[in-house]
Amino acid sequence: MSSDRHQAHGHSTGAHDYELPSLPEAVDIFDTTLRDGSQQEGLSLTVDDKLRVAEQLDHLGVAYIEGGWPGANPKDDEFFSRAPTELHLSTSTLVAFGSTRRAGVAAATDDVLGKLVAAQTPVVCIVAKSWDRHVIDALRTDLDEAVAMVADSVAFLRAHDKRVFLDAEHFFDGFYSDRDFALRVLDAAENAGAEALVLCDTNGGRLPDDIGRAVAEVRDRTDAQLGIHCHNDAGCAVANSLTAVQAGVTQVQGCINGYGERAGNADLSAAIANLSLKLQVRTIPPERLELLTPVSHHIAEVVNIAPSPQQPYVGSSVFAHKGGLHASAVARRRDLYEHVPPDRVGNGTRVVVSEMAGRSTLAMKAAELGLDLDGEVLGQVLEQLKQLEHEGYHFEVADGSLELLLRRATGWQPDYFTVESFRVITDRPADGLLASPGLPSPDTTTEATVKVRLGDERIVRTAEGNGPVNALDGALRQAIAPHFPQLAGVHLTDYRVRVLDSGRGTAAVTRVLIDTTDGEDVWTTIGVSDNIIDASWQALLDSIIVALVRGETPAETRDAVGQVGQPA
Ligand SMILES: [Zn+2]
Repeated sequence: MSSDRHQAHGHSTGAHDYELPSLPEAVDIFDTTLRDGSQQEGLSLTVDDKLRVAEQLDHLGVAYIEGGWPGANPKDDEFFSRAPTELHLSTSTLVAFGSTRRAGVAAATDDVLGKLVAAQTPVVCIVAKSWDRHVIDALRTDLDEAVAMVADSVAFLRAHDKRVFLDAEHFFDGFYSDRDFALRVLDAAENAGAEALVLCDTNGGRLPDDIGRAVAEVRDRTDAQLGIHCHNDAGCAVANSLTAVQAGVTQVQGCINGYGERAGNADLSAAIANLSLKLQVRTIPPERLELLTPVSHHIAEVVNIAPSPQQPYVGSSVFAHKGGLHASAVARRRDLYEHVPPDRVGNGTRVVVSEMAGRSTLAMKAAELGLDLDGEVLGQVLEQLKQLEHEGYHFEVADGSLELLLRRATGWQPDYFTVESFRVITDRPADGLLASPGLPSPDTTTEATVKVRLGDERIVRTAEGNGPVNALDGALRQAIAPHFPQLAGVHLTDYRVRVLDSGRGTAAVTRVLIDTTDGEDVWTTIGVSDNIIDASWQALLDSIIVALVRGETPAETRDAVGQVGQPA
């Protein structure tokens, strides 16, 4: 029976019919983004990406980072061979993942175990089948051999001085199918020297009560540390992880941003915040909790998956308030509308401004940007905003362009450069046109020329691109980038076009939205015109000017702006 880990503060047993221990004082956070998370469809990491994600996780302060499966592919082999010299972890411990020995093979000659030993990590995590049906139908061996595979493998790794965690795959399905076998697997691992027994809801279909009941029963028969590993197929991965902690688990596995195959793994961003802020269980070092949002966004950037605005705690919309009345009430009493203070997790209250906004909403937005607009000016901006929204602008989603609109209302004008003209030519050779008029031609080329004045200098630059916006972006950057080195880290991440009055066919008004990032902040700019190139140019120019404005704002105010404007 485990003892001291569960002695902290008591909590009520609520409606559960199994007994809950006191909550632990602390749990270990185990991130498996680099192994389980990278199973996500569309997510592909280079070795450099993996090293950068690991650095971010260490910066956040998770206890363990699972780096991959040595021997499974050349990429993971390279990762583990480069990690000892290139990855300097200050908080986290690197873990290599593998499986138990194969059926009928001695541990000492098993290839997978040999590679785990060679991976040079202090901790290894091995997966074992703990669902009888998987042993018989998938592994095609008998239950006694499955238990022996666990015991032999753990003993072998312990003999090589590895700390061993056992991932009991499909544990909960196994527990409710053949309870004795599932528990035999855990006993075998513990008796052979496994330090942690990790109970996995591999198919992700279990509900919290299934989890709590099983964890409580395991807890009563082992002294090993217990871990939880939940997938989100039933939408319960975070809830199941919390229930497991309430029932006696002290290691929580998952992925930052909930990456993973199918519906993903437990989202550690939410699990960490819930445990730390709602249950007062220590997860990462408390002073690093405010890194949750920036680290979540940074990793999203590295793995090249746009962050979900609705992601609990760290999404850009989750502390955003829209509508005049609501937003002004938020200004007076934030706790009436926010379940936690957003700055605790590095996020920020954001006021969403649209034509429905009242003057107070706009005043709050201006104050967030550090702008002092008096009542008369505010009234004028509001009228301008409503007129522009009537023409098709949509400032609610274009925080970057809204920022420029408000700054201009103070009399400010961007004076970085002036655009004299631009021109775009798309050329499709006649041959291709005649041969296959309805199909894309590999010979179609686009070229843009931009003429700007920068101080006394007149600069003319031409660039090619795979389309007009790409070519314009290239030409504008060539023209001004030498004078603004801060643009080097700024790039467009998304380009969206919406036709507003589609009844007019190709003469319809077009709204273009461009997302831009400098690697930390993300901003959106907008253009509206009945000419798609003109609309794109407006959004593109705004995007560059926002980058330049933000780049020159002093660090202190920039933090404040970043926090309220768009979470840093
Ligand atoms: Zn998994």
